[in-house]
Amino acid sequence: MIDYHLHTKRCGHATGLPEDYLLRAEAIGLQEIGFSDHFPLSLLGHTPKAKVTMESEELVDYIQDIEKLKEKARIMKVKVGIEIDYFPEVEEKIGRLLEEYAFDYVIGSIHFIGDWDFTHPAYAEGYRNLDIDRLYVEYFELIEKACRSRLFDIIGHIDVIKKFGYRPGTDLGPLWLKMACVLRETGTCIELNTSGRDAPVGEFYPNQPLLEACLAERVPLTLGSDAHSPEQVGRYFPEVKSLLSEIGCRELAIFENRVISSVAL
Ligand code: ZN
Ligand code: FE
Ligand code: FE
Ligand code: ZN
Repeated sequence: MIDYHLHTKRCGHATGLPEDYLLRAEAIGLQEIGFSDHFPLSLLGHTPKAKVTMESEELVDYIQDIEKLKEKARIMKVKVGIEIDYFPEVEEKIGRLLEEYAFDYVIGSIHFIGDWDFTHPAYAEGYRNLDIDRLYVEYFELIEKACRSRLFDIIGHIDVIKKFGYRPGTDLGPLWLKMACVLRETGTCIELNTSGRDAPVGEFYPNQPLLEACLAERVPLTLGSDAHSPEQVGRYFPEVKSLLSEIGCRELAIFENRVISSVAL
């Protein structure tokens, strides 16, 4: 199996060096890993209250560290990815910045609505006074825009808006079908991100109905633990393996120089 969503201590809220993540991946028998640490928000003109990404000066070193690890790793394939925030106002800037660096893949994620980091536990009280139905609409409109920008290979934790357990009252079935179509049309992958199981919501991203809608539309799928410490590498993967075979998913997408291919599960 592969784990395409690994952070390192550079982002300021994770622990461990790339080597530590590699060792753990080897120990649990993964075939391929990819790092996707947080792209410097300062380069996007965004300065959040809490530090959640590496600094702009660190980006080149981050890439070099992973490139070195590629050489060092024996059997394991190692990829250099990045997780970058999507803000509709700075699409062009994101495009220009991504061209400057040689990533194997780019995960586009939404952690902010305006300047509210709705994925950060410190700001989770922000959900309290909101109309959750409207919030979901707003969030998935941003996801759709992110897909249509075609800036990203993969959308990160696509339904992370559920992270703290706030759910709308309406049936989301039609929304999942629509999202799956948008992903297919725009040639965007999703990831099965297992970190949600350890969040208050207690389930993977995406939920099973959305995952199955994506599978029906033949949207390619990658897999990631969103590890912020080495022992989180590959978390819940045995369960993922049975889930995916149960729903008829037989391959995972992999990337090199932003070109997609696949491996059997
Ligand atoms: Zn993080
Ligand atoms: Fe994220
Ligand atoms: Fe992440
Ligand atoms: Zn993440």
